[in-house]
Amino acid sequence: MILDQFNLSGKVALVTGCSAGLGEAMACGLAEAGADVAGVYNQGKPTAIEEKITALGKRFKGIQADLSSIAPIKDIIHKTIDTFGRVDILVNNAGIIRREKALLFSEKDWDDVMNVNIKSLFFLSQAVANQFVARNSGGKIINIASMLSFQGGILVPSYTASKSGVMGLTRLLACEWAPHHINVNAIAPGYMATRNTQALRDDPVRSKQILERIPAGRWGEPDDLKGAVVFLASEASNYMNGYTLAVDGGWLAR
Ligand code: NAD
Repeated sequence: MILDQFNLSGKVALVTGCSAGLGEAMACGLAEAGADVAGVYNQGKPTAIEEKITALGKRFKGIQADLSSIAPIKDIIHKTIDTFGRVDILVNNAGIIRREKALLFSEKDWDDVMNVNIKSLFFLSQAVANQFVARNSGGKIINIASMLSFQGGILVPSYTASKSGVMGLTRLLACEWAPHHINVNAIAPGYMATRNTQALRDDPVRSKQILERIPAGRWGEPDDLKGAVVFLASEASNYMNGYTLAVDGGWLAR
């Protein structure tokens, strides 16, 4: 039956950036659908998400790692497999943003953003896909893209470059790994109320401009992503490969 295909019981999800914002909500959604969760965090212990997931009767393993380099990736895989014996779902959610005019943008703000948002995303996907292939299990990889995978935006050149790259890479990996029964897709959140958009929401002019352009008439909430992530992590999306699904209150439709 179709609802059974959304059930993630017995699955293990690895979610990066799990201690706040969208990552916390998506990790919780995956656990609500039945998955155990390995959550990567770089700062601030993920106590809230751990409590929520264990209250659901699911297991949570916090893994501290700084994804500004690819050095910790082996350890992340090792700890996940050591704890749960397997991994079935990867959500590449960790991401950062830097705001500055393109004329003044620094090399550091370029490299910092590209390292977390695209380089680590690729090498973590590679490491997890190698697990899927070794076990011949297939699996699900979900990358977190952005409206700036589709649009240029302003003042965030490395963010736009990285998130446009995420959409392209999602397609490439989907094509290469579909024969291994690995589904690689992405979610492009619209303008969501998290730390990532704090500066925008604090700016009365930009905040008003953005809100007026969202057909749904509100900023997105982290919980708005739960349905999409569970769908893409589940058997219900087995014939979806390389697609970036917008969850944006109609922003792109406008
Ligand atoms: P957030 O700042 O609350 O969360 C970012 C997460 O990434 C945090 O958990 C943080 O700890 C983690 N992270 C950052 N740098 C890291 C590093 N070096 N190593 C390990 N983890 C690191 O913001 P958010 O809105 O929840 O962002 C989550 C993802 O969603 C990001 O990829 C972001 O680009 C994307 N996104 C957000 C929005 C939005 O409107 N909020 C829109 C589109 C896409």
